[in-house]
Amino acid sequence: MEPKRSPIIALATAKGRASVGIIRLSGDGVLEIARNLLGNFPKPRHATLECFRDKNGDPIDQGLAIYFPGPNSYTGEDVLEFQCHGSVAALDLMIDRCLELGHSIGLRLAKPGEFTERAFLNGKIDLAQAEAIADLIDASSALAAKGAAKSLTGNFSIKIHQFLEALIELRALTEATLDFPEEEIDFIKQHDVQGRLEAIAKKISEIKESAQQGSIVRDGITVVLAGQPNVGKSSLLNALAGQDVAIVTSVAGTTRDRLKETILLDGIPLHIIDTAGLRDTTDEVEQIGIERTWSSIEQADVVLLLMDAQDGFDINLGNRELLNQIEAKLGKHVPVKLVWNKADLLDQYPESSNDRFYISAKQLQGLSHLKEALLQVAGWHPESEGIIFARKRHIEALNEAQTFILNAIDLVKEGRTLDIAAEEMRLAQDALGKITGEYLPDDLLGKIFSTFCIGK
Ligand code: GDP
Repeated sequence: MEPKRSPIIALATAKGRASVGIIRLSGDGVLEIARNLLGNFPKPRHATLECFRDKNGDPIDQGLAIYFPGPNSYTGEDVLEFQCHGSVAALDLMIDRCLELGHSIGLRLAKPGEFTERAFLNGKIDLAQAEAIADLIDASSALAAKGAAKSLTGNFSIKIHQFLEALIELRALTEATLDFPEEEIDFIKQHDVQGRLEAIAKKISEIKESAQQGSIVRDGITVVLAGQPNVGKSSLLNALAGQDVAIVTSVAGTTRDRLKETILLDGIPLHIIDTAGLRDTTDEVEQIGIERTWSSIEQADVVLLLMDAQDGFDINLGNRELLNQIEAKLGKHVPVKLVWNKADLLDQYPESSNDRFYISAKQLQGLSHLKEALLQVAGWHPESEGIIFARKRHIEALNEAQTFILNAIDLVKEGRTLDIAAEEMRLAQDALGKITGEYLPDDLLGKIFSTFCIGK
């Protein structure tokens, strides 16, 4: 079996032309690699300017070397960083040179997220913080970046730990009562258990609300944008996004390669599925695209049917058919918003309501109502404070924990013996432990870290 801290290496910065590229190594023996490469042992936590040479002594690059001895490093192991010039070729040469020098000690390329996985396994961060690192890297808006940074610094984990501590204390008291029933010591009264459990359940509800807001910022909603060519779908996307992000094109069929486009609406991601590509075709590639569009429509949260206001306020046969098809895929529960665009070309038009909108994407008229309606579908409360940048699995774990606690409350209320309630508390504790990684169900780690980028 591979030793636990076997050395790994990866490019920590994105591959491509850049001013700087950082190579990171972690694990046992990396200091020896540094000595062989640099000709000396680097001073801990000092940046030194070095010439990196190949085996013939020819220079590969000149850059900074920094050595972080474990456990005071990102991974908790010995870590070495080389800040080189951001040339793909030179960085490849550097990595090859390190692999050559580290061959005898088993240096290998790191798997995605392996540095962070080690940081977690070595107790430097908990699982929620590790996920926050990936979320910060992937953040698509300032709101998302701020939310992830908060979780990274422990904002979310601290709250979960508080629940865990409260549960552990309560379990200890109930179990003490169960262990010494004959003693006159009143460790905890039945109604105290109920009160304490209710307090925890209430706090979990509050956290869930913040976490749900956070998951909206993270995941956004999926919007199906239906409508005939030239009704202004691209213009609407641009108008909602507040900048020119949508691809405006007048050639039918070119949407086949872009299944989904994401725009940010007040920082909330809207994943737009453009149905313009859903047309009869014999082109094989286009057919595959069409099938993919149909299957992605199943995940939609809302449908926008865009029409040209100049054609009147009825839904024509073609649109009606498209709507029926979409509804058959989605079910009736998904809201459909009817949007008449190019209202600027009319002398007068009706007031917008919650599912009928009259707008001008070009003149930016009537958009605030539509924005509000979309954010409402998302469940976003812009005024909400203290969002927690949660993942779906966090919310599921919070739900699970809350169910067990509510079960425990019911059992206590029914006057059942405390041992059954204590078991529910243990299950709640395990559910919360999944968030921070104290309790690890099989293959959870693999699932989480496989989505990280290489070098993190
Ligand atoms: P798409 O094919 O549905 O994506 O439509 P586009 O966004 O490409 O727009 C088609 C044409 O309609 C372009 O010439 C736009 O400038 C024009 N257009 C879009 N929205 C409006 C609007 O609100 N008012 C007017 N007058 N023209 C618009």
